[in-house]
Parts: sequence; C-alpha cells; structure tokens
Amino acid sequence: MCGIAGIFNFEDAETLVAETLFAIQHRGQESCGIAVRDCRGNISYHKGMGLVKQVLTPENIAKHQGSIAIGHVRYPTAGRSDKVNSQPHVAELPEGPHIAVCSNGDIINYNEIRTWLENEHSFTFRSDNDGELIGRLVAYYLVHEKMTIEEAITETQNKLKGAFSTLLIYRDMMFAFRDPHGFRPFVLGHLNHETGKEIMSDGVVFASESCSFGIVGATFIRELEPGEIIRLERGKPLKVVATAGKNKQHCVFELIYFSRPDGITFDELVYDVRKKIGAKLFDYDKDLGVDKDTVVMAVPDSSNFVALGYAQASPANFDMGLLRNHYVGRTFTKPEQKQRDEGVRHKFNPLPEFFNNKKVVLVDDSIVRGTTLRKIVRMVRGAGAKEIHVRIGSPKVVGSCYYGIDTPTRKELIASKKDVDEICDFIEADSLKYMSVEDFNIILQHPGNFCFACFNLKYQYSPEDFLQKTNAPDNRC
Ligand code: AMP
Repeated sequence: MCGIAGIFNFEDAETLVAETLFAIQHRGQESCGIAVRDCRGNISYHKGMGLVKQVLTPENIAKHQGSIAIGHVRYPTAGRSDKVNSQPHVAELPEGPHIAVCSNGDIINYNEIRTWLENEHSFTFRSDNDGELIGRLVAYYLVHEKMTIEEAITETQNKLKGAFSTLLIYRDMMFAFRDPHGFRPFVLGHLNHETGKEIMSDGVVFASESCSFGIVGATFIRELEPGEIIRLERGKPLKVVATAGKNKQHCVFELIYFSRPDGITFDELVYDVRKKIGAKLFDYDKDLGVDKDTVVMAVPDSSNFVALGYAQASPANFDMGLLRNHYVGRTFTKPEQKQRDEGVRHKFNPLPEFFNNKKVVLVDDSIVRGTTLRKIVRMVRGAGAKEIHVRIGSPKVVGSCYYGIDTPTRKELIASKKDVDEICDFIEADSLKYMSVEDFNIILQHPGNFCFACFNLKYQYSPEDFLQKTNAPDNRC
C-alpha cells in the first residue's frame, strides 16, 4: 500500500507535498520521497528509507525547491524494502526534460511490459518498481513512437493492467491518471479555488486521501474518475483529457481499514461507513444479551468507529480497555512476522482493573492471519474479562489482493483454511461473527462499484494474470 501527493504551480510546493505526505503516512512507512521541478526547468528529487518526518526534513527538501512537486510514501511487499525501489522515479529523456512519476497500485502485467521494453527497445531499469515501469512506458511512447505526451499517457493507460493512481511531471506540466477500474483512491483539491468557477491548474492538489487537504489548507473538490487523465498547465484551466472508466472496482478494504476516517474515499464518508458497519454487527447480536454493563471496545485505532457504531446502536457503552502506544506504528505493515509479533506486544496494553469479570464485545476491522487477535484476546482475558465476543467489521479474508494492498498469500490467510468456529477456537474467543458481504449492499451508496475479491474471490483479472504477477519481482507500489 502506498500514498501519493502532488501540488501544481504553487509556492513552496515541495514543503506542501511533504506535509500532504505526512497526513497519509499511514499508507506507507518504509520509504518516501519527493520530486520537484524548479524554476530553471530541472527536476530534482530526494528519497530515502524511513518516515516523512525523518526523510523529508526542512534541510533535505531545502535543496529541492520549486512550484511543481509530487511525492510518495511506500509500503513494499516482502523483501525489497530499499531505496532503489522507493518513489518518485525520474527518467531522463534524450530531448532533455525529465519525467518524474509516482504511483499507488499494482501493475499485473509488469513482467510482460518490462521484458518487452528491455528486449525489444533496449531499456534499462534501475528498480523493480511499478512507478519506474510507468515512467519508462510513457517515455517509450514519447521517444520511440513520437507521440504527444497526452497520447503517450493514453497509450500507457491502455497498456497497463491492474491498479494505478499515478502522478507525472513532464516539462512544466503535471498529469494525473488512474486505471479504468479506479481500484485505489485518488482525490483532487485546490489551494484557492472559488466555488462555481472553472478549476484553474495553478494551486491544484492531488492526494490519495482527502484527509490530507486540511493540513495544507486545500479544499476538497472531487475524486478522479476511473480512467481519467487530467492535464495541468500554468495559467490554464484544468483539462480533462480522458475519462475511459469501465466496470468500477473500488477497493472496499480502503473503507474497512486503510483510509483515514476523517476523509472522503470513493465518495463515501469513511467514518460513517465504519459506524454503519458497527451498527450492522449489532443487528447480528440481538440474542447476545448485550446490556448497559457490557463493554463494547475496539482494537484501537483502526476499528474505533466500528466499535462506536456498534455501541451507539446497542444498550451498551463504548469504552476503551486497551491503550495503544502510538510510537509503534502499524504492526501489520512490518515486512517480517517477527517484527509484527513484537509490534503487537509493544503496541497494546490493558487498563488495570478495567476488565474484572466483564462481558466484552471486542471489535476489530479484519482478521488476516489471526495472530494479532489471538494475542489481544489472551491479553484481555488475562486482564480479567469473563466473556470475550469478537466482532469483525469485514467478511472473511479468503483471497490475496493483487491491486495494491499487501495481503499475505492465500495459505497464510486463516479464513482460507478454517471456518468461523475454528477461527473462533484459534483466537480463543467465546464467540466470533463477521460482517457479511451482502450487508455491504445496505451500507454502501453504490455497492456495485466495489471490488470484494479478497472476500469473494471474484477477481477482475484472470488467474493467468496472477500467475505472472506472482512470478514478478517485488514491484508493488
Ligand atoms: P492479523 O490477523 O494478525 O494478520 O492482522 C490483522 C490486523 O491487521 C487487522 O486487525 C487490521 O487492523 C490489520 N490489517 C488488515 N489487513 C491489513 C493490511 N493489508 N495491511 C496492513 N494491516 C492490515
């Protein structure tokens, strides 16, 4: 999972992009970077391993000042967490100007395109990363096929299979484009837009999530359309080059877990969706005997709003029996299991005397491997809880994601091997219930626009595509 940000033609764009990235740090914590076009037309970049506040310090970005900037936060899949694979990527063109690219998603036909560029057109790749592939493909169409930049991006969009929300700087222009299915979120804001007027390019802000707009003082305007290509040029109105969307496949897991609750993702208020999920979960529990003495609590922080929604729908009160250490970060997004185990132990601590003999409804957003919840249930029981009823704000995760979320392989997913009772035994809970896929039809405004593949195995691309992706080097966002 990754996050992207871009600012067009606005003073201190490099600082504003770094701030925007800071607001979407939850989307990737392994590496980050910015690419900036300065007033002389050069594109320079700074990237490195670590968090935004460590890598994009005022000292580091002072050397990269300009009014056009893009940036990226990255969470890699296992193994290749290194600087070479961090983004943005800058590709030199023979004519002089460079292309800078950053992208969030997962290109399924990565191997095929890379092999074609390397073998047929003598391209050399520095990394194994999707962002570089996208930049080189655009460069191929520009240089080898002599296309205009708009044609080159359109061809690139047609050639790529998979998920991509992409930002690209070319000369003094910026382009934003998205895969036709709109898998990953991508929003557009403005630093000084006047309502009702045409959107001018100058001051446009792009980001993965709208929660980042507040930090730079931008106004949310809209989500990019699936398949949309936007062109920004100094002093000109924002131009929509294409809207080639088809069969929308927004990632429902963004609403369940990934996106910050203070944003609008896929035209849904994230916190509202989570509260509705919680209320729906309570609907399943009419016979559980939930009363005012029952504790309804979240595994903080990702399921806070789900637990709140449950509690508000029920006679019980929302409470907080577990404290989370905020300096640990997201344990799941640590590439190694050992780091993840350590993370759970360091991350949560029960309140003393809180659980004594209580009946607890423990709400979490999802179960993937099951290891986190097993430890938490043990912790809560060890702290004195009498009953622990686990409620999950998503359906059973039975399949991996190939569109930009790092889910482990199928064999690591507990729900692909065990039924609900067996999972309940494994996590040592008194009862376990999941949100059903069908009930998302009630909760979402346009459920038909969402991808549920990790829950129902209905993938957009065929198994052959996956096979190729599985063999690909670690090239995810
Ligand atoms: P586990 O079941 O131990 O593998 O971890 C599940 C927990 O990790 C959930 O409660 C989520 O909060 C979180 N989580 C679920 N999916 C992901 C993901 N793809 N990336 C990062 N964290 C996740």
